[in-house]
Amino acid sequence: MKKIQFSPPDISDEEINEVVKTMKSGWITTGNKVKEFENQISSFCNTKKSICMGSATSCMELALHILGVGPGDEVIVTPYTYTASCSVICHVGATPIMIDLAPDSFEMDYDKVYSCINEKTKVIIPVDLGGILCNYDKIFDVVNSKKHLFKGNSEIQNKIGRICVLSDSAHSFGASYKGRVSGSIADFTAFSFHAIKNLTTAEGGALSWIINDNNIYNNLSYFSLHGQNKDALTKLKSSDWEYDILFPGYKCNMTDILASIGVIQLKRFNFLISKRRKLCAIYNNLLQNENIEIYQKDSIINESTIHLYIIRLNGKDEKGRNELIERLSKRGICTNVHYKPLPMMTAYKNLGFNINNFPNAFRMYENEMTLPLHTLMSEDDVEYVCNCFKNELQKI
Ligand SMILES: *Cc1c(COP(=O)(O)O)cnc(C)c1O
Repeated sequence: MKKIQFSPPDISDEEINEVVKTMKSGWITTGNKVKEFENQISSFCNTKKSICMGSATSCMELALHILGVGPGDEVIVTPYTYTASCSVICHVGATPIMIDLAPDSFEMDYDKVYSCINEKTKVIIPVDLGGILCNYDKIFDVVNSKKHLFKGNSEIQNKIGRICVLSDSAHSFGASYKGRVSGSIADFTAFSFHAIKNLTTAEGGALSWIINDNNIYNNLSYFSLHGQNKDALTKLKSSDWEYDILFPGYKCNMTDILASIGVIQLKRFNFLISKRRKLCAIYNNLLQNENIEIYQKDSIINESTIHLYIIRLNGKDEKGRNELIERLSKRGICTNVHYKPLPMMTAYKNLGFNINNFPNAFRMYENEMTLPLHTLMSEDDVEYVCNCFKNELQKI
């Protein structure tokens, strides 16, 4: 029987050789390799500047910190995401405001976003589910139309002059929206390079921004490295041993070893993405007559990064969907669900969220499943998955 994994990392000899080179170079923590990777990310994403960190979660959390978001502030977020998009709001002491999805959509209901904006609202965190960018035109329309209510409480918030758009683009590195690349659209964009993501450094992330302000990079590097005013490489290079600790910062810098994986993944990225798009087109073709909704539609394949092959089973509920997952697993096929909405998780129930207040998110979740799609899959593998899927779907 075939075994189809959900999303194993695609690491070639080139990544391995680059890591070995760095390990032998005498410098393995944050240094020139990270700077090189950051510059490559900025030019790839057509953005002002980027900084690498240990994860997308750290990137989002530190973005909130440098914006000065904290207790008393409200941050808007979708319930249909991984916990990281919301936990960072809790970490900085702000209040998460979850907005239900629009009917039959994986995006927040932007009319509801509009009506919940008040003087406490400082940031909105949209999530580019599966590598399809959100409707940023709409998001900017909404935050601009409530500009008069905005009360900035830091220099950078005042510079932006309205609610800051911080996108959770963990799935959308390399995606585009009306010809603009992810990273060049939102005020801040957080990418994840976790092992399961389209471009990986094992663990890692990058934050990009479009605001012209040299302080942002420095502030973020201080925040990610103890609040220390000189990094290890700078200290090594000069006789100037003395440093200061500006504030009690965090420790979430990326290492040169991991950045070495990243520079090669980026070099191979166009190849990796075109393979995903090709496999997606085969899926779409083989599944077109099934009683399902296909999320990665043919019309958006070239703009999406096809991070997740999301489908919805028409007329099925949680029970039917779970049975299908079980049946496919018995045939060696690993599938997944994206996402169980946050209000169904203990942490957010304990904060007072209740799934009954998010009926649209629940409807998207109850019949959603994600089929395996990754760059180590062959066209035959996709055919095998589709055959098993059609076969098992009839039995539930
Ligand atoms: C993976 C993921 C994250 C977290 O990324 P890390 O790099 O592991 O911190 C955040 N949001 C979404 C939607 C994700 O899928």
